[in-house]
Amino acid sequence: MLGIDLSVIIPVYNEEKNLPIIYDRLLKVVAGLGVSYEFIFINDGSLDDSFTIIKSLSKANPNVRYIDFSRNFGHQVAVTAGLDTCQGNATVIIDADLQDPPELIIDLYQKMKEGFNVVYARRRIRKGESFLKKVTAMVFYRIMDKITTVRIPIDTGDFRIIDRKIINTLKMMPEQQKYLRGQIAWAGFKQTFVEYDRDERLQGTTGYTYSKMLRFAFDGITSFSNFPLKFATLTGFIVSGISFVLILFALYERIILHNTVRGWTSLILVILFLGGIQLLSIGIIGEYIGRISANIRNRPLYVVNETNITELNNKQL
Ligand code: UDP
Ligand code: MG
Repeated sequence: MLGIDLSVIIPVYNEEKNLPIIYDRLLKVVAGLGVSYEFIFINDGSLDDSFTIIKSLSKANPNVRYIDFSRNFGHQVAVTAGLDTCQGNATVIIDADLQDPPELIIDLYQKMKEGFNVVYARRRIRKGESFLKKVTAMVFYRIMDKITTVRIPIDTGDFRIIDRKIINTLKMMPEQQKYLRGQIAWAGFKQTFVEYDRDERLQGTTGYTYSKMLRFAFDGITSFSNFPLKFATLTGFIVSGISFVLILFALYERIILHNTVRGWTSLILVILFLGGIQLLSIGIIGEYIGRISANIRNRPLYVVNETNITELNNKQL
């Protein structure tokens, strides 16, 4: 059947300086474990020399596979391409910038052998990231935890090991908005974690701009929670209730007290408040509708320019 013990999926976006280093460290890890392996590098539209380096690694080592995207499709999609094609009985997802220490794979692998389907790496501390990034991440994970029905582990990225059962489950989830850590939590089975200290990025700059992070956060929320929709409904009800009382009050002023000229302030407040609530609610609905339409278009998640994975080559032809 599949035959390889361990696949390692490495999404790459402008990581030319980090690639040789992560490759060496990964090689040591798999040698230490004594497993058969493949490394799958997904070049997600890098603007630097990353792809040239990946190709030369693959020439020197037949266990290095690569997928070169036609443009930048984003980190989650890059990882998904790796998951679609990996052959391993277990698969590790790891960042190329060495923020996730490759040596931790040994712990992940051994923990999995104790009988777990997922072992994720939970960050104890995060080094070298901006204050704003840490705070937004912290707030986001806590909000997610409150509003989702699936328990998605807090303070984890995608650095983890998953086994074949999980990989096969993920392959059955074709949604366009990938929030892999949510999908993996949703899949169930036996999941556990090991803790680690997240390092600084070794070289280069983050590929996750704030706008990408915001989209990612919205994808996570809309894929795993209907809370924003319920929120819109609930505020709708509450505001309607208040409005009804105000209507009675207005009629009372007009009919009983004949007192109608004053009231500019209250009028403007009501207009602004209602306008705000309406726009917010339409916006929330719009976020969901946008995602529905993206899924209905049924486009492929990514387009491959070049790969040395036979199965994928055949599919593209
Ligand atoms: N990455 C990617 N596509 C992107 C952005 C990032 O494949 O559009 C890769 C990147 O090369 C790295 C991983 O995803 O291996 C995590 O990205 P990054 O380190 O930039 O994010 P951060 O750690 O700052 O959240
Ligand atoms: Mg990083």
